[in-house]
Amino acid sequence: MDEQRARIYDDLRGAIGGELHFNPLERACYALGAGFHEIDPLGVIVPRTEEDVATVARYAAEHGIPLHARGGATDFADGALGAGLVIDFSRHLRKIVEIGDDYVVAEAGVVVDALNARLEPLGRRLEPTPHRPEAATLGGVVGVDAAGERSVRHGSIGDRVERLRVVFAQGETADLGFEPWPALDDEPTDFKSLIVHRLRAIHRQNRARLEPPAAGALRNRAGYALAKAATDEGIDLARLVCGSEGTLALMLRARLRTLPLPGARATAILPFSRLIDAAGCVPYLMSGGLPPSACDLFDWRSVSLAREADPLFREHVGEAVESVMVVEFEADSPAEAADQVRLLLGRARRTGLLAAEAATIHRRDDCQQLAKLRRRIEPLFLRGWGRCVPIAIFEDAAVPVERLGSVIRSLQDLPRRFGLNWTMDLRAAEGRIRMRPFLDMADPDHRARIGDLAGEFYDIILEAGGTISAAAGCGLLRTQFLPRQFGELFQVFRDVKDVFDPANLLNPGKITGAPPVSMAENLKRHPRFSTASSPERLPTTNGVEDRESPAAAPATATATAEPEAAQAVVAPALRWPKIDVLSMASSCNGCGACRSGEPTLRMCPAFRAHGTEASSPRAQANLLRKIASGEMDPRLWGSNELKAVADLCIHCKLCNTECPSAVDTSSLIMEAKAAFVENHGLPPQDWLVSRIEMWARLASRFPILSNFALSRSGPRWLLERLLGLSRRRVLPPVRRTPFTRRAARLGLHRPRPSRPGPRVVYFLDVYANYYDHELAESVVGVLHHAGVNVYVPTAQRGSGMEALSVGDIDHARELALRNLRALGDAARDGYTVVCSDPSAALMLQQEYVKLTDDLDAELVARNTMDVGQYLLGLDARGQLPPPSEPVRARVGYHQPCRLRALEIGLPGLELLNKIPDLDAEFINRGCSGMGGTHGLAKGHFRSSLRAGRELRKRLKGDDIEIGATECGACRIQMEQGLTKRTLHPIKLLSLGYGLNPSLRRHFKDPKPRNAMS
Ligand SMILES: Cc1cc2nc3c(=O)[nH]c(=O)nc-3n(C[C@H](O)[C@H](O)[C@H](O)COP(=O)(O)OP(=O)(O)OC[C@H]3O[C@@H](n4cnc5c(N)ncnc54)[C@H](O)[C@@H]3O)c2cc1C
Ligand code: SF4
Ligand code: SF4
Repeated sequence: MDEQRARIYDDLRGAIGGELHFNPLERACYALGAGFHEIDPLGVIVPRTEEDVATVARYAAEHGIPLHARGGATDFADGALGAGLVIDFSRHLRKIVEIGDDYVVAEAGVVVDALNARLEPLGRRLEPTPHRPEAATLGGVVGVDAAGERSVRHGSIGDRVERLRVVFAQGETADLGFEPWPALDDEPTDFKSLIVHRLRAIHRQNRARLEPPAAGALRNRAGYALAKAATDEGIDLARLVCGSEGTLALMLRARLRTLPLPGARATAILPFSRLIDAAGCVPYLMSGGLPPSACDLFDWRSVSLAREADPLFREHVGEAVESVMVVEFEADSPAEAADQVRLLLGRARRTGLLAAEAATIHRRDDCQQLAKLRRRIEPLFLRGWGRCVPIAIFEDAAVPVERLGSVIRSLQDLPRRFGLNWTMDLRAAEGRIRMRPFLDMADPDHRARIGDLAGEFYDIILEAGGTISAAAGCGLLRTQFLPRQFGELFQVFRDVKDVFDPANLLNPGKITGAPPVSMAENLKRHPRFSTASSPERLPTTNGVEDRESPAAAPATATATAEPEAAQAVVAPALRWPKIDVLSMASSCNGCGACRSGEPTLRMCPAFRAHGTEASSPRAQANLLRKIASGEMDPRLWGSNELKAVADLCIHCKLCNTECPSAVDTSSLIMEAKAAFVENHGLPPQDWLVSRIEMWARLASRFPILSNFALSRSGPRWLLERLLGLSRRRVLPPVRRTPFTRRAARLGLHRPRPSRPGPRVVYFLDVYANYYDHELAESVVGVLHHAGVNVYVPTAQRGSGMEALSVGDIDHARELALRNLRALGDAARDGYTVVCSDPSAALMLQQEYVKLTDDLDAELVARNTMDVGQYLLGLDARGQLPPPSEPVRARVGYHQPCRLRALEIGLPGLELLNKIPDLDAEFINRGCSGMGGTHGLAKGHFRSSLRAGRELRKRLKGDDIEIGATECGACRIQMEQGLTKRTLHPIKLLSLGYGLNPSLRRHFKDPKPRNAMS
């Protein structure tokens, strides 16, 4: 840490209760957000209380240090980045203080979705919601005066704000609302009244010209909202601070008006032949008192992806359609909503421009699904397109709706002249245009063109009377163009800033451009992609003609150039057959979806448990990019500091499937852990975990003794001290001898391909082999019952997931090779490998190919299945007998993360639903928090319980008798401290077949809290 940082750190350490992050690794996590800029901050403050914020502001004012407020950092314009002290409001200031009949008071760090989840049962909501409500915070939403989905009907957040509590640049705390203009001879009594005095003068001088340019655009949030906030009577200071991007004050909490939930929704899908036709008729469609709540217009690229992503959309939109308008109406009753749609359809037909019959959707869930279409298409644009991806540079411009047609025509010509492809969609009823050129941000030529492209883009927008920013921040991306939009009025913004923050310490540069901000500076560094193995799926301009314009210009040299080699300064320990390690780390677009708490997503359990930026896949992937590319000190690779960050990941593997850009952060982190092991050796605790099979084998030789010891506090205390195994973690009892030996006694240990029936080789992994023989027996029993020829090789070993998760690559590889010897021959003989533990299936399917280039790794990966998935396959072919024995129980089913990462749906739940009388509930409440063996460690015990709190809460419900899940580790968590048991779905299925009747005992008596069943 340099001298200045060390001094600030020492000064603030005792002064505030919040966290201070000043070392390079910690700062690097805060150097970027959702846009494509990157700035190393001086330090990061994570305040715990409002007083902490005021203390930091006072300190910063005294020492002339800039402050940058930060929420989820999901603003594309990167308004939360800066070289001063970043204040992260998202971690601790998350209290919903008060919910009234029609208002809510909440702190700056409250996430919009979390707030709406609290309001919904009360029949209320906060609208409009920004595009990423699952990660955007109230501070950020107010900071940019966000106006996302449904803003055509509900305006922007600024229209909902009643009062704000803020800290001014000098450290004073104040509550802001409407303030009448003071009399001329009134003396200011505090800083707030001084502000009002000075603003009165500015307002008087400029009243005549305050109505800003772009008045024709329905929404314009660029600059300060002086025109909206000030009247002849006074000024609404809260409204003025809305949209000020942290440049006027730091927001602590807001009082916001809420809305009732709508009585009904209806959605119309209008297919057009061309985007330009649809854009041209927006004024006619929206005129005459039709107030839609949302109106999205998609181009042909989005339409083809939407057809891929959404069965409902596919059902209603034919292949020939090239542009689609999705219009949603909210109303008090279904009849009223239907009337509005009918009116719209009548108008649409009269235009004569519809390419096919329009469709109407009335079901609430379907309407909701379509409203999120744009969000769902986005990942498809980012996954697997190769080097050129649509970059969110022009997200937020708007023009008067009557100019949409001509503006779209001009805009379509623009990227063509630059030799680029693009995709465009519109919030049509507001005239908002979202145009994304396809750029390779690793290509210096593409980077160099961004500035000119933006200049010409905004010329077109401003000439049409539009605005550069309608709903999101100007930040580092658009501030440069504000003077062009506002001309002389721009000076008024500087005067306003001077009133609030004369020393220019709050987020300097943003909005006022002092010091000047250029969008082409501070661009995130992208190491060059070293592989062309991810071919571009989009037709390029030198390949297929653009459908909107047959006259697309030829591609530039850049588009056809061979990629250069990556400049990694570290050698990867894993194989990266499809995409190299640096390209993978660089493919994070910073969107912040991995900071989500949304229930339909799981990613990222580590972030959900810790809530720190460092625990998010975004921070981790970018940290590794920066170190591995040499941008940060390469000696950090394999360091203790990096290991501490890497240890936050529990390797659930969900980021790979749920991240819009499919960033495999888990494997990147395994690389970092492997480097640590290479430098420092395996720490004792990690060694214990990675050799879990050895411990299990030893314990199974003396089961009575080891189970007795593990249930006693003395030995557990010793194990905790020596090896870090939490003494509070309840563990399953080990069984005498591994199941493979019993299988040998049953004659299952030899492949017998000549026997009738489909062939299966059962891969047990440690849990079923040493701890849960009932599970192994059930799997074999159910498979036999279905006429399957089962083979259980005795040479099989644990899958190695535990070793891989701690970076013990050598041991994981050794286990992989042994298992491949045992399974490869069987796979060649036509056996399917089935696993009862999803971690094992994940290892065989996805990880062994990264550990070894042995040809059997590919073969086994192709032939491996989860046992539930296998049984459902039999069922689909009519080969699975239906279970006939009733099992009267209400079962709470939990889907393990690693099963979810296999992307095979919910086979366990589907099987449970086939059992007569069994009532299964899908507890869709996120991760169990165990993360394999992660939750066994003393240091992780509490955070793992915290991560699984929601699941355990539901499981405790009186109406649920028993839990069900496929994962052994999740089961440990689900039984921890509870009297209810949790069983693998296959055990319950075997009961449904009348097999293993002894399992029924699990339903009868409660188990002791401090033991596993
Ligand atoms: C894919 C994508 C699409 C998007 N589309 C839209 C869209 O259509 N409409 C829309 O409105 N938004 C859109 N956004 C932007 C984003 O959802 C909003 O900008 C959001 O409001 C930002 O919230 P945040 O918590 O991430 O704020 P941050 O990004 O952290 O901060 C945003 C600004 O607010 C300031 N700020 C943050 N906290 C405070 C505070 N406590 N006090 C004072 N200032 C503060 C910051 O300094 C910064 O200038 C999109 C984002 C993404 C990733
Ligand atoms: S890791 Fe994925 S989800 Fe997270 S910010 Fe990066 S691209 Fe978005
Ligand atoms: S593997 Fe899981 S815990 Fe690790 S970064 Fe990805 S989502 Fe988070």
